[in-house]
Amino acid sequence: MIRNYAKELDKLMLRLEREEKRPALLLHACCAPCSSAVLERLTEQFRVSVLFFNPNISPRSEYEKREAELERLIRSMPAARDAEMIRVPYEPEVFYSAVRGMEDLPEGGERCFVCYRLRLEAAAKYAAEHGFDYFTSTLSISPLKNAVKLNEIGEELAEQYGVPHLPSDFKKKEGYKRSILLSKEYDLYRQDFCGCVFSKREREMKNGSHT
Ligand code: SF4
Repeated sequence: MIRNYAKELDKLMLRLEREEKRPALLLHACCAPCSSAVLERLTEQFRVSVLFFNPNISPRSEYEKREAELERLIRSMPAARDAEMIRVPYEPEVFYSAVRGMEDLPEGGERCFVCYRLRLEAAAKYAAEHGFDYFTSTLSISPLKNAVKLNEIGEELAEQYGVPHLPSDFKKKEGYKRSILLSKEYDLYRQDFCGCVFSKREREMKNGSHT
């Protein structure tokens, strides 16, 4: 059966609203543009903390730029003003060792599934250690990400760490469009590659700018 993760989230949020509950959610965030529409959607129903854990991003200057933009968004967007941002040290070697042997795979394949797991696992672990009620990621807002895979991995990790995964397909219900509008409104830096050095190389080859 094909699951509709966006509808599952709607139902859950409706139930929480009826029960007048506002649980603590750990949201893994990849960048400011993707976080904008997700924060707008979730902060009314959840007490959100944002975890910027992305060892896949390269080079360091790109990582720092995305991190700073996310912090600026959280400070300036009214819907996000109560959100806490959690920073972690930049450790790209964690990513390179996880995807060793998969460097030449195209974007959207097995390497990306390992990359999803790496980031979601950090969120699940942090959520378990710090008493959060749920965890999830902004990643499903991108039309280039596999939402089914993200949710499957999230549910496996939920079992493993004992914290429920919030189902998500944030691109649905105009979520992706909304992220573009909000990025314009807040003048956010929108990168043109996913994040890792391999996706950067792939993009440059498509654009004919690879040397
Ligand atoms: S293309 Fe994106 S999702 Fe895939 S491995 Fe690189 S950074 Fe991770």
